Amino acid sequence: MKKFILIMLVILAGCNVSDPVQPEPVKGTYRFVEKTEGNLSLVDDAMRVLVYEQFIRDYKLSKDPHYFYRSVTILINKEFALPKDFVPKDLVKADMPLSPRSNYPYMRKDAHDALKAMFEVALDEGFELWFHSGYRSYASQKLLYENYVVRYGQVQADIFSAKPGHSEHQSGLAIDITAPSSEGPFSVFFGDSAEGKWVAKHAHEFGFIVRYPKDKTEITGYMYEPWHLRYVGVELATQLYTSGKVMEELDN
Ligand SMILES: [Zn+2]
Repeated sequence: MKKFILIMLVILAGCNVSDPVQPEPVKGTYRFVEKTEGNLSLVDDAMRVLVYEQFIRDYKLSKDPHYFYRSVTILINKEFALPKDFVPKDLVKADMPLSPRSNYPYMRKDAHDALKAMFEVALDEGFELWFHSGYRSYASQKLLYENYVVRYGQVQADIFSAKPGHSEHQSGLAIDITAPSSEGPFSVFFGDSAEGKWVAKHAHEFGFIVRYPKDKTEITGYMYEPWHLRYVGVELATQLYTSGKVMEELDN
């Protein structure tokens, strides 16, 4: 009996020091090698296995259960979610013009700095943009989504709002923007405004994509949201812009 207990203890102790759980959201995380300062380099098929193995090693070394979720190219949608306790490490407060009813004024630093640069260039060219809503925690998204479900029913809510864990806003890489000329945030007319057109044309130069385009509702599951930008880095943003694809259409 004593021997049995001893064996059990060894087994249980083994559980505690086991490797981190199997890497989860592989999709979108190892298509690109992340170099310094958020620069990305495309990975070809032959390299992908090597890159993936390196990612696994880095993941284990990092001892960060959320290592993969911090990739700027991560795919978050109705199928792939962030963990309930995922919080970005490098959130900064928006240092740029805010909309009058702006809320959640935080973003991850790289995304924030890229957005600030975009706002400044836009303004130079005569287009004034406002920051409306950035990082939202799992709990905030849960509250928001549940309120929408009560108000509009789940079918409607699912077209324009994400279930908790499934919102890109939790990553700290998504932003809702607006413009003084718009009738307020979350207006589809933003897409037809001079500012919205400028954003659609130039966002990729700063690493952003219009994440839910007009003609991709069937693929993304979301209505057209010309105001919702997602930071993915300049290389991927440019690839998506020139190919006309959404993240779901990338093979990875
Ligand atoms: Zn949004």
